[in-house]
Amino acid sequence: MLGTMQEWPLLCHKIIDHAGTCHGDREVVSRSVEGPIHRTNYREVRKRSLQFAKRLTMEGVRSGERIATMAWNTWRHLEAWYGITGIGAVYHTLNPRLFPQQIIWIMNDAEDRMLFVDLTFLPLIEKIAAEVPSLRKIVVLTDAAHMPATTLADVICYEEWLAEADDDFDWKSFDERTAAGMCYTSGTTGDPKGVVYSHRSNVIHAMTSVFPDVIGMSSGDSMMPVVPFFHANAWGTVFAAPMSGARFVLPGPGMDGKSIYELLTKEKVTVTAAVPTIWLMLLQYLEKESGKLPDLDRVFIGGSACPRSVIDAFQTKYDVKVRHGWGMTELSPIGSVCVLNADHDELTPAERLDVQCKQGQPFFTVEMKITDDDDKERPKDGKTFGRLKVRGPAVVDHYFKRRSPEQFGEDHWFDTGDVAHIDEHGYMQITDRSKDVIKSGGEWISSIELENLAVGHPQVAEAAVIGVPHPKWDERPLLIVIRKPDQMPSREDILGFMQGKVAKWWMPDDVVFVDSIPHTATGKILKTELREQMKDYRLPDA
Ligand code: ADP
Repeated sequence: MLGTMQEWPLLCHKIIDHAGTCHGDREVVSRSVEGPIHRTNYREVRKRSLQFAKRLTMEGVRSGERIATMAWNTWRHLEAWYGITGIGAVYHTLNPRLFPQQIIWIMNDAEDRMLFVDLTFLPLIEKIAAEVPSLRKIVVLTDAAHMPATTLADVICYEEWLAEADDDFDWKSFDERTAAGMCYTSGTTGDPKGVVYSHRSNVIHAMTSVFPDVIGMSSGDSMMPVVPFFHANAWGTVFAAPMSGARFVLPGPGMDGKSIYELLTKEKVTVTAAVPTIWLMLLQYLEKESGKLPDLDRVFIGGSACPRSVIDAFQTKYDVKVRHGWGMTELSPIGSVCVLNADHDELTPAERLDVQCKQGQPFFTVEMKITDDDDKERPKDGKTFGRLKVRGPAVVDHYFKRRSPEQFGEDHWFDTGDVAHIDEHGYMQITDRSKDVIKSGGEWISSIELENLAVGHPQVAEAAVIGVPHPKWDERPLLIVIRKPDQMPSREDILGFMQGKVAKWWMPDDVVFVDSIPHTATGKILKTELREQMKDYRLPDA
């Protein structure tokens, strides 16, 4: 017997309808690419999204076609997402920090039909557009007064393009499983892979993000996603903030400490989200300028492991709660969040920080387990680590145009490529990427744990650990270190500092000092490149 309730497809544009009608006056504040702060509200964003959708149909864009954006977080980018999804087309965010060849590869794989681009990235597009034959029109996200001269053909200024339509338009309606958006993984291992979000997965992910124990958002909040829209589906904030009626503050191109601080304080932001490097930069700025964060209640930190010192500084110096989350492009993207609860009341401050360094619990809709290499489940004892596998309604089922059976089990458990342990309460801690974990004498050593320990040394600026071949143990850890300016710690100083803080057999066999460590476009250590750089290195006893 079926239930007797209505079929109401979970469609992304229903979110902006809700925000526009129930929270219409709520402000959407952006730092524009042109410079000044721009103010609008959800009512206007909805109207312009409808106008966008109508204008897109005048271009002949049909359901399922991919529309690329290469843009900062602004109101124009926001209305583009809703306008695109409102006719069943697919927003495809491009990360401008990738190598041009990777961008070309991704755009061709996605067969992008149109591109909406910010002024900042026009020079980059001028160099690559000819290599994307599917691209029929480029719209520059600015007004006529700021439209630059360009070598590109078929280019138009956004405000003029948009003005050719009015907002008298009805959203299209369709199956909630229809594609809504697309984002490529950064391709640190092999070619980038396209993840295609559906309307249903985006709406469900937004509903779970507003849970109090996830990002948590309400109409009383001012939410600022510092994480760019082009990084892993904007961590769902483009849907979660309007859904909850939170005021939306968009930082545009201002990603430096001063600009972020200015918006956090002047716009009275209560909740914000970004990767640890952004917060390290903000904390340095606050320190230097004796800044305060009186309105900020909580900060969501994810994308890579959040250093303990960052969590501690936010909480003890600035009275801001930290939510440490884990996720990936393939999960829409949030998969778990670390929130302290009554179970932790008895812990000392240091023990509470230990818990907060974990990536936390999956929330409802995310199932999680760890297995060995043969897919056998490993115990949830907070110590044993294994391959982290997840499933749920906002987890990828397969990649665009590809099937990768090794990552997608028959029972839909997705192998994240991360290695983690999970304790009896479901608190998960990432210990490595499966390709980076060091396999020594049949046991696994966490490279991340060693890196975190090494950066705790006061004279170490950055540290990376890779496995290098060893005749007896297969692999042994090698620690690669960038010293802080004007500091000269020795190999012995650093190993002495680490001694006793990890199992003896985990201790790196050697330390190599370097001036730089390669990074991916999203700021993670590029271990493939590092291993290549170190391929001629031999351990002292190997
Ligand atoms: P990109 O490499 O483009 O940033 P993703 O955002 O999809 O792509 O990266 C996801 C990966 O980032 C995860 O599989 C995990 O390895 C890492 N990651 C994300 N959040 C955390 C976290 N809080 N702690 C440790 N690693 C994390």
